[in-house]
Amino acid sequence: MGSYEASVGRALDPEQKDLLDHEEHCSADPERLAAAGAERGHQVRIQRGGIGSALYTVSELRPETPDTVVRMGKEGRERLGTSEEFEGVLDTRVTRSELAEEEARKSGEFVERLQDNASQRHLIVLAPHGGAIEPHTDEQAEHVATRLGAKRASVWLCRGYRADSLSPRRWHATSDDIDPRSFPALGSVFDRGFVDAVSFHGFTRAGRENEIVVGGAADDRLRRHVAAVLTQAVAGTPLSVHIAPLGDPLGGTDGRNIVNRITANGRGGVQIEQGPAARDEYALVIADAIVRVYRARLRRRSAYRALRRLLIRLMRRFGSRADASQPSTPTAAGQ
Ligand SMILES: [Zn+2]
Repeated sequence: MGSYEASVGRALDPEQKDLLDHEEHCSADPERLAAAGAERGHQVRIQRGGIGSALYTVSELRPETPDTVVRMGKEGRERLGTSEEFEGVLDTRVTRSELAEEEARKSGEFVERLQDNASQRHLIVLAPHGGAIEPHTDEQAEHVATRLGAKRASVWLCRGYRADSLSPRRWHATSDDIDPRSFPALGSVFDRGFVDAVSFHGFTRAGRENEIVVGGAADDRLRRHVAAVLTQAVAGTPLSVHIAPLGDPLGGTDGRNIVNRITANGRGGVQIEQGPAARDEYALVIADAIVRVYRARLRRRSAYRALRRLLIRLMRRFGSRADASQPSTPTAAGQ
């Protein structure tokens, strides 16, 4: 982990189209970045003196002279309040998790939190964009994990806060980009091999305030079940529940999405995307519905395991009796 003084310049047009199209992406010099302890794909924090910091994903390595040049598109620079080029600091330590919640809020900071019993692998609940980034999603994740208990669910979340002039969106790293190497707590459980994962998110789209979109790469049966339980839970409210159609940008079906990547088979994730009305008014109603889904799923799985153990015991017992009744060597009858 390290940092260096960086000159933040414009993305090259057209060869850095990715940076022009993605406000969360930047490029950096490979050697300078490696000396600070990061590689392509890592998240970094870029600080603009006196204004504040924002999170970026290094989507491209580009040798630069001087090697302190970092490039991003106009929207990328605007996340730090300017469309101009500026001097700043690139820091490969992205979270400030040593801060207590109140301090983080006051200083407009970004923290990572994990609750985990260090062994269970049934379920991990994620909220990468909690705090003021996508309000209430972190409360939903904690609620689900608390109700299921530490033996059945772990929770990983981030909280980012508003600074005077800067939007909390500057702490947003899209789920497809989130790199466990940049988040120590996430990194500590990433290879656990969770059977299931569920993530809570929020979106704002005019005309879709009341929508809940169920996505993720989990099989259709599970996603349909989640949607059915949610539909029942929000009956009588203005909310509507949809299963993400193929290609929906809110769908979370990409294998790179952290909710899928963190599961043992790479496609066990369910992503819950919610409009502001859903989160503002019904955050815990929705979370409780998710508790019901996974509680039933965990019960079914443990019943299945118990049945399997019983069958194995029975097969051993009857199998060994059958063996005992068979002569182990041909008898010498008649001789
Ligand atoms: Zn999100």
